[in-house]
Amino acid sequence: MNPDQHKKTQFSIFYVVAGLLLILGLQWFIGGGTSTDVPYSDFKKALSLGKVQDLSVSPTDIQGNMVSASGQLMAFHTLRVDEPDLVKQLADKGVKFTGRAQGSFLGGILSWILPLGIMFALWNFFMMRMGSGGPGVLSIGQSKAKLVADTGAKRTTFGDVAGIDEAKDELQEVVDFLKTPQRFETLGGRIPRGILLVGAPGTGKTLLARAVAGEAGVPFFSISGSEFVEMFVGVGAARVRDLFSQASAKAPCIIFIDELDALGKARGYSPMGGYDEREQTLNQLLTEMDGFDTRKGVIIMGATNRPEILDPALLRPGRFDRQVVVDRPDLVGREAILNVHAKGVKLSASVDLHLIAQRTPGFVGADLANIVNESALLAARRGKTEVTPDEFSEAIDRVVAGLEKKKRLINPREKKIVAFHESGHAVVGHSLGSADAVQKISIVPRGIAALGYTIQLPTEDRYLVTKKELEEKLATLLGGRVAEEIFFGDVSTGAQNDLFKATDIARAMVKEYGMSSRMGLSSYERPRNPFLKGDSYMPAEREYSEKIAAEIDEEVKLILEQAYAAARRIIEEKRATVEAVATRLLEKEVMDREEFLRLADA
Ligand code: ADP
Ligand code: MG
Ligand code: ZN
Repeated sequence: MNPDQHKKTQFSIFYVVAGLLLILGLQWFIGGGTSTDVPYSDFKKALSLGKVQDLSVSPTDIQGNMVSASGQLMAFHTLRVDEPDLVKQLADKGVKFTGRAQGSFLGGILSWILPLGIMFALWNFFMMRMGSGGPGVLSIGQSKAKLVADTGAKRTTFGDVAGIDEAKDELQEVVDFLKTPQRFETLGGRIPRGILLVGAPGTGKTLLARAVAGEAGVPFFSISGSEFVEMFVGVGAARVRDLFSQASAKAPCIIFIDELDALGKARGYSPMGGYDEREQTLNQLLTEMDGFDTRKGVIIMGATNRPEILDPALLRPGRFDRQVVVDRPDLVGREAILNVHAKGVKLSASVDLHLIAQRTPGFVGADLANIVNESALLAARRGKTEVTPDEFSEAIDRVVAGLEKKKRLINPREKKIVAFHESGHAVVGHSLGSADAVQKISIVPRGIAALGYTIQLPTEDRYLVTKKELEEKLATLLGGRVAEEIFFGDVSTGAQNDLFKATDIARAMVKEYGMSSRMGLSSYERPRNPFLKGDSYMPAEREYSEKIAAEIDEEVKLILEQAYAAARRIIEEKRATVEAVATRLLEKEVMDREEFLRLADA
């Protein structure tokens, strides 16, 4: 939390109670709180002795002054007893008295303000309970965006973000734009309107967005997607409008919508109702984004860990068209993050953050921050003056135990399998000359399913692919599984995606490209409907006989077997290389092209 954030005075029950106490106190004070309660008979006695004066008489009570036994004047009050000729007696005694209406002025006001106040307070309370969570009914249509001021020593900068340098580099451009919008304007370049940060929870998306604002020194409006989703139809949309109008008044600035998926789920289906409201809010957001002039200098950033469920309309050009992937940090990155968080902590000289980074594959920034914090707390509890490796070990164990339940972490054996698997892909691909050049190999888990990945990029733009190239691609895809088989004598489920892709290619070779000699030149598949891509793809109706279908399957199998044999030959031949690459991967987790070539061509 930033201390500079705006604080709205909340209308809470506390204020109601305090107000009531004040009023009651006043009444007690004004209504003769210092007067003595005397029996009516005493009053009558004093009256007959002529010792009362300055009376005020109401239908229910009498107040006034009387001379007490000790000769002092004291204020008194007494309840009135039904005595019709009291007024006559007072007049006879020559006492000065005034009439008074029943009850006091304050009492009168209280009698109708109090119930109203209580009702208002209760309503407010329930509104907050129902999830609007905000300052109450008076501001229901206002956005709850928190404005984080741009100044102050505590602002977040890129210095606070470590280990995700690629994402940082991509966002540097946005920072430059926000700092000097004029420069971009004169060049006529179009700056992206919306930037979507995509990455696993805790990888530092929110932190990164703040850092962009901090670096550029502009205001930062931050709101969570779930805060738009309301009980009442139309409220969310009103909030969106309010947010954008607030922001455009402060341009240049950043609007950051955290957890965009809560708001931007694909429209059209909602199991729990609430469909209209979210759809309205989302539509309003789309409209505002379209109507926004980026040259004014308002950049919209979003963050999500589930980009796949976002409404496609959100990702169209002019909206969140730029996506920045925030990956889990690799070994070097983790050490850098640990360094950032260890800055304010007193470490003993024997703590080696590099070792800790080595022990924490798969951890994200938030986990590492947590480890540093836990260790410091442990050390404090043990009365130590500095944090030692012992505390770190224990903190890691704790965090790991917590994480194992929540998400998958690679254990050392899995890590080894993944390293050999990826090394297998890379070595086979590299040995087959025509395959795309290996750019990067990583065994840092990424996304939901992939445990590791090998990035290959084509060396030139291509439009046609030859049969030989497809065969080599197949061998490369199978290289991962072959490596597992050869080095571990067993296979894992990690190759599932590879097999799926390989089968797809082999099938297309037979059915569409006429690349199998046995099936000849016939095409057995209509061109796929380009509008039915992705999820909605449905297999076309089959237009050939059962016999042909069986033959196609046999051909596909044959092609895959040949590719498998090729991959196996290569890996057996280059055992040492595969092993060297895998070993290096286990140490470093990621490997770039240069390093791979050095090992592969050694
Ligand atoms: P996300 O929004 O991706 O879920 P956050 O930005 O909320 O993650 O990260 C939570 C906390 O974890 C941050 O406040 C910061 O202390 C720490 N953290 C996460 N990633 C990093 C990083 N790359 N560098 C430094 N600290 C990080
Ligand atoms: Mg976040
Ligand atoms: Zn693979």
